[in-house]
Amino acid sequence: MTRLHNFCAGPAAMPAAVLERAREELLDYQGQGLSVMEMSHRSPTFEAIAARAEQDLRDLLAIPDNYRVLFMQGGATMQFACVPLNLLGGGGTPNYLDTGIWSTKAIKEASHLGGAHVAGSSREAGYAQVPRPDELALSGDAAYLHYCHNETIGGLAYDYVPEARSAQGDIPLVCDMSSSILSTPIDVSQYGVIYAGAQKNIGPAGITVVIVREDLLERAMPHTPSLLGWKVYADNASMINTPPTYAWYLAGLVFQWLKQDIGGLAEMEAINRRKSESLYAAIDASDFYANPIMPANRSIMNVPFTLADESLNATFLEEAESAGLLNLKGHRSVGGMRASLYNAVSEADVRALITFMQDFERRRG
Ligand SMILES: *Cc1c(COP(=O)(O)O)cnc(C)c1O
Repeated sequence: MTRLHNFCAGPAAMPAAVLERAREELLDYQGQGLSVMEMSHRSPTFEAIAARAEQDLRDLLAIPDNYRVLFMQGGATMQFACVPLNLLGGGGTPNYLDTGIWSTKAIKEASHLGGAHVAGSSREAGYAQVPRPDELALSGDAAYLHYCHNETIGGLAYDYVPEARSAQGDIPLVCDMSSSILSTPIDVSQYGVIYAGAQKNIGPAGITVVIVREDLLERAMPHTPSLLGWKVYADNASMINTPPTYAWYLAGLVFQWLKQDIGGLAEMEAINRRKSESLYAAIDASDFYANPIMPANRSIMNVPFTLADESLNATFLEEAESAGLLNLKGHRSVGGMRASLYNAVSEADVRALITFMQDFERRRG
């Protein structure tokens, strides 16, 4: 059996230790005589799996007691609709920051539901940086401020937490953290809502984590479909209907891996910084490779890069694949290459990539 170096943007690499544990428990979960995917979500065994996953996530992120953790389906894309549906019941205008493709999709969805005010954008700067704090201009009636912490496609990340304040006072800060959650410690209390699809840093596709401050559960628009309403999940332990039980279990194993094998998010951040810094250093040291993002806003999770000679793109990808380096093709909307360095991507994986890149440049540059 061979496990290759996987830089996929999502669904992304999983920690090998987690997959091994899942394999051990696949046919017979802890002597129960059946697999986790075959048991009732209402059974005490699964309830314990679900509760443990939530508690481990709370421990990792130090989630305060006045926040609820919801496990939903539909991905981060469904949350683009859930956010306005659940927060605009009291009126007001949703405010958004625009830093690229994912924030633009969130803005589009909100515009269908309530009209969105773009309170800051780096579109004119080619999305090579995030809007500066003094450039943000919220509308006077802002109901919330939404931003995408890490633009997975552009490779652009915030180096500060935006201030969510309108003329009327503090408003909830809402963050799409799909591609950066659990990569560093964060201060959850600065946010009203954090959401993230699982398939980058949490687990397999099919489950979505929503962390919401309790008082915000009362703001849904009337007629919000029950499966899109956060309060329904909060009131029913995220089991209003059959949840994606196996994805939930695997997410729980990833949380245990982060706590026990890695030692927590400060340790994870140190590893992630070493990985991304070494790759950016290799790119910057070469005239053959380039990354367009302003250094302060470079993502530690997704590193896009281009070759000076674009006609070598296909050869680069073919040779990379032969060298066991998978999924380096950039998103179809931007082209070039992208290496995603999520938590499960090891320092050895990144060293193998850098060695290949340097060798390719020597031979073809
Ligand atoms: C992947 C991603 C999404 C979309 O996630 P789905 O689970 O496919 O809906 C949204 N936002 C960001 C930042 C992402 O990285």
